[in-house]
Amino acid sequence: MTNVSFTTSIFAVMLADFQETRFLFKHLSSRRLRNAWKLYRSFKNQNRFETREHPMPVALSIEPTTACNLGCPECPSGLKKFTRPTGHLKENLLDNLLGEIGEDLIYLTFYFQGEPFIHPKMNELIAKANQRGIFTATSTNAHFINDKSASAIVNSGLNRLIISIDGTTQETYSSYRKKGKLEKVISGTKTILAKRKELKSIFPRVYFQFLVVKPNEHQIGDVKKLGKELGVDGVHFKTAQVYDYENGNALIPTINKYARYEEGKNGKWSIKNILDDQCWKMWHSAVVTWDGRVVPCCFDKDATHEMGQFGEESFKSIWRGEAYTNFRSALLKSRSEIEICKNCSEGTKVWA
Ligand code: SF4
Repeated sequence: MTNVSFTTSIFAVMLADFQETRFLFKHLSSRRLRNAWKLYRSFKNQNRFETREHPMPVALSIEPTTACNLGCPECPSGLKKFTRPTGHLKENLLDNLLGEIGEDLIYLTFYFQGEPFIHPKMNELIAKANQRGIFTATSTNAHFINDKSASAIVNSGLNRLIISIDGTTQETYSSYRKKGKLEKVISGTKTILAKRKELKSIFPRVYFQFLVVKPNEHQIGDVKKLGKELGVDGVHFKTAQVYDYENGNALIPTINKYARYEEGKNGKWSIKNILDDQCWKMWHSAVVTWDGRVVPCCFDKDATHEMGQFGEESFKSIWRGEAYTNFRSALLKSRSEIEICKNCSEGTKVWA
């Protein structure tokens, strides 16, 4: 059984920042707290409780769009490799979702696949969740941040803006972020920080996310320096998932700390973490695609494990339905037999 504590498991992402923590506690109603506690208890006792009684999720990711302006090699959105339909999230789908589970939700990420700010009403979507006291976050390549959009982002109430920057020179940056322009990332960062100051807002907190791969690992020190110079609130280093790793992969970093995979004595590569038969991510959160498909986690990029279609049925009936219950039971029995769970970082550190 896991040794995660209640606080660190539910709020781990947020405790690093005082302003984010303050927002969280301000909006932690007794209902949210009660639901979160029940969820955590059910996780600790997962082998004894009937998974069908599952308390509501405390966190959710929703996909504003599948469209993306870049073409990153390990991303189905950039490579246009989806088999599921592509499109933009409709406002009424979000309204209905928030209407049903907004009172229990604590954290909502407006991101799954695609570049979220391509959605023409991204800031209105965020504002809807923010007005309900839900912590909001998104992740962007920052290519669409300009003076006008920066005002709208700040005014939406967005709490956390994660900017992907995977290199400090154009050549390194675009070796993974194909078609990306580093100068746009830097100018977008400067613009949002200046706008936040101009509008005297403490949000969004702005973080650089540096996905460590072999071609950029030599720039780890440089990106820390750049983040400091620009005044971002932090720089986070993320280990990278790659699809083909058994025979090695040119993207796997040589610095062990940043690699999710290791080479065995037989020359074959494998994922480092032990595949425990449990998953906190799937237990406390879910992902909703732009068209309402509910999937267990962000590793299911093509919605292979669709648990139900929100809109055709309620979220609660999907969350407590047969497909979800069977998926949870299968994972508790043997995680390594579920294809998406075999190459998954759950149970290990994603942030190095
Ligand atoms: S892929 Fe990972 S995060 Fe998703 S359900 Fe499986 S173990 Fe959990």
